[in-house]
Amino acid sequence: MTDGGGRPGGVEMIIFVLNSGSSSLKYQLFDMRSEKVLATGLAERVGQPSQVGRLVNRPTGGAEHVLEQPFSGHREALDCVFDLLLEGTLESIDQIDAVGHRVVHGGESFTRSVRLTPEILEELHGLSHLAPLHNPANVTGIRACFERLPSAAQIAVFDTAFHSTMPPVSYMYALPYHLYTDLKVRRYGFHGTSHQYVSARAIDLLGRAAPSRIVTCHLGNGCSMTAVRDGVAVDTSMGMTPAEGLVMGTRCGDIDPAVLTFLMETQGWGPERIDELINKESGLQGLSGESNDMRDLTDLAAQGHERAKLAVDVFCHRVRKYIGAYAAEMGGLDAVVFTGGIGENSSVVRAKCCDGLEFLGVELDDELNQDRVRGERDISRPGSRARIMVIPTNEELVIARETARLAAEALVGG
Ligand code: ADP
Repeated sequence: MTDGGGRPGGVEMIIFVLNSGSSSLKYQLFDMRSEKVLATGLAERVGQPSQVGRLVNRPTGGAEHVLEQPFSGHREALDCVFDLLLEGTLESIDQIDAVGHRVVHGGESFTRSVRLTPEILEELHGLSHLAPLHNPANVTGIRACFERLPSAAQIAVFDTAFHSTMPPVSYMYALPYHLYTDLKVRRYGFHGTSHQYVSARAIDLLGRAAPSRIVTCHLGNGCSMTAVRDGVAVDTSMGMTPAEGLVMGTRCGDIDPAVLTFLMETQGWGPERIDELINKESGLQGLSGESNDMRDLTDLAAQGHERAKLAVDVFCHRVRKYIGAYAAEMGGLDAVVFTGGIGENSSVVRAKCCDGLEFLGVELDDELNQDRVRGERDISRPGSRARIMVIPTNEELVIARETARLAAEALVGG
C-alpha cells in the first residue's frame, strides 16, 4: 500500500506534532504503533501577555479541558499543554520520543524533512525573509521544544518540500534571472503535506502509481492545487508566497501585478497596505462583501444574493481553469481529488468546479456527489475516464510518519 508520508508501520514511538503560529500552537499526540491520535489541542493568543489566552486539550475518548490564562510566550503555553497531557494521557513527558514540527517555508535548501540541530535551526531562521509571518513563529516553537524536551528528536517537515520536484518551467517567474539567483525569487508552493497525502491515497485507489496524472485540489481557507504525475509534483498553484493561484477565503490569488502598482500610484499605498489587501481583504470576503466562509456564501447564493453568487462562481471558475491547465501540462487526466474544508464538504462547489469538463473525461455523478456521505469516496460516474475523488486530508499524520521515519533512522545511526 502507498501511504502519504511513507508509513513506517507499527513503530513504538510517541510523537508530538506541533504547528506553531505567531500567536497560536496547534498539536496532536500520536501513538505510532497504531497511528492512534491520543490527544489534540489548540492554544490561542500566545505571546500576548495582556490578553487572556485559551488552551483547549482534547484527549481521545476523554473530556475536553479548557484553560484560560495569559500565555507570555510559546514556552509557557507549551508547559501548560504538557501539564494537561499529564492528566491522564501521558505518565511522563519523557515518553515523547520525537517532535514533528510543521515548518512553512524550506526555501531551496530544505527539499525533504530534516532532523533539527542548533545549526540547522539557524539556517531555518535565515529563511525568514521568504515567510516573514510563519517561519519565525515556527522557529520560536522549535526552540521552546528544544528547551522543554531536550532528549526528544526534533524533526522539521516542510510545507514546500513536496513541490521541490517541480521543473524550472513550473517554478520560474519570467522576471530578470538575477532575482532568482540573488534573492531566490521563484515559485515554491505550499500545503505540500496535504497534496502528498491525498495524491498517495488517490494512487492507492486508482490501483497504480504510474502512469498516473492526478490534480489535487486543497480547498480550505487557504486554497491550492497541484499537478502530480506518477506520484511526483510537477506544478502547483501557490508561488513564492501563498498569495498566488486560486481565489481563497481572504486572498486574491492570481491578479495582474500592475494592479498593485496602479494602487500604489493612485492611492499612495505602501507595502503593508498592499499586503493587507491581497492577503486579508480579498478573495471570497472581498468579492462578496459578506463572508470568507464558503458555507455562508453558498447559503446566501441559494437565496439570490448576487455578490455571494459571484464570489462562489469566480472561485469555482479559477479551479476549473487550473484543472484544464494541469491536464494540458500532464497530457491528460486520470483523477481529480478534492480535499480541505470546502473540497471535502461542499457538493455545490465540487459540481461547479467539474462543470463543463466532460471533454476531459471528468464526469461527476450527481447522486454520489451529495453531502450525506462522508469520508474517502469516488464521486464520478462509472464510465468517467477521469476519476473524481473526495479524500479527507491528514497533514498531521504525514508529519507524524515523517517524524517517526527520521527519528528511527537517527536511532539506527546512533
Ligand atoms: P483551514 O485552511 O483553515 O484548515 P478548512 O480546511 O477547515 O480551513 O476549510 C475552511 C473552509 O471550509 C471554510 O470556507 C468553510 O466554510 C468551509 N466548509 C466547511 N464545512 C463546509 C460545508 N459543509 N460546506 C461548505 N463549506 C464548508
